[in-house]
Amino acid sequence: MKILAIRDGVYGVKSAISNAVIDFSQMTVSVVAVVTDVVREGKPVVGFAFNTNGRYAAQGLLRERFIKRIMGADPKEYRDPARDNLDPFALHRIAMRNEKPGGHGERSVAVALLDIAIWDAVAKIEGKPLCRLLAERFNGGKWDERVWVYAAGGYYYPGKGPEALRAELRSYLDRGYETCKIKIGGAPLAEDMARIEAALVEVGEGPRLAVDANARFDETEAMAYGRAMAPFNLAFFEEPVDPLDYALHAKLAEVYAPPLATGENLFSMPDARNLVRHGGFRPDRDWLQFDCTLSYGVTEYLRILDMLHPLGWSGRRVVPHGGHLLSLHLAAGLQLGGCEAYPDVFKPFSGFADNIPVQNGHVGLPENPGTGYETQSEVWPIMQEVAAG
Ligand SMILES: [Mg+2]
Repeated sequence: MKILAIRDGVYGVKSAISNAVIDFSQMTVSVVAVVTDVVREGKPVVGFAFNTNGRYAAQGLLRERFIKRIMGADPKEYRDPARDNLDPFALHRIAMRNEKPGGHGERSVAVALLDIAIWDAVAKIEGKPLCRLLAERFNGGKWDERVWVYAAGGYYYPGKGPEALRAELRSYLDRGYETCKIKIGGAPLAEDMARIEAALVEVGEGPRLAVDANARFDETEAMAYGRAMAPFNLAFFEEPVDPLDYALHAKLAEVYAPPLATGENLFSMPDARNLVRHGGFRPDRDWLQFDCTLSYGVTEYLRILDMLHPLGWSGRRVVPHGGHLLSLHLAAGLQLGGCEAYPDVFKPFSGFADNIPVQNGHVGLPENPGTGYETQSEVWPIMQEVAAG
């Protein structure tokens, strides 16, 4: 059992949108294919991965260090003899050889891409959907057949007013979503409050609407938005301030009673642990949104969940960032709280199985072994292109 090749490609997300901090027209993602010598149904097993939008493609890091380490390892080092499969934990250790702790930078994206593609291959070798493999190995065999998803949109487009925002949210509700999220912080407070009020006309009630400031606010702005929004009792106020300013999160949590959310820009278990230790987050209502594809992969996500439980947090308070099948498999197989969804943005690197609709705010998973990217007609041809080299 051996990894024969690891190939990668760089692609654009082609979204003419922006949030409070970045414009996505220049955003790139990496697609990785891990080609093994294992044959299933007459074809070599290939594991695939792409990273969520928001961090750029990791080609330089992948090619300079991480792919070389794995390709240079003796296959005996990463074989799981008990299961006759690859050992993703051993491969993670090999990738991280000669890397110091802390200061994760964007190597966490490069390592995540390899780790996730390896887990996809492991599930394919075992002939199971990834969620089932994760459930059997790490969750006592229990998984969720349907996962709560919310529609993340409400971006700022040039010339987009409250009517266009309402039409966008209505289209999500028409497609089966019940909870929607819009961006804030890219306009003055009064304008954003008008956008929130317009959005509430469509979604009906505060707990069905979330807002995301993309870590844009300083203390004064976060408090002002918090005071203005608190009466609406929104689903959550996401990334109010800098993701690494734990003391300011704690200060906000003392005065803003409805749910807060953050985590998509914390890239390791120690960073996640710092948030939980020092960020004042409340396990009875707040949400943790770590993104597996940006933070060292499935292997590190399992460590994060192991860290959370003794600190009083249920996995049900974790709702991964990244509206794609990988986040959905984690949410289902590890019985997390749900998963983000991008109904209209970041194509082709978003979405779930083409033929499984969202109903009553929940979505099911494909039965294909692995992550099931074959069920996504937009991304699958790109993966085939990368695998072919
Ligand atoms: Mg966000």
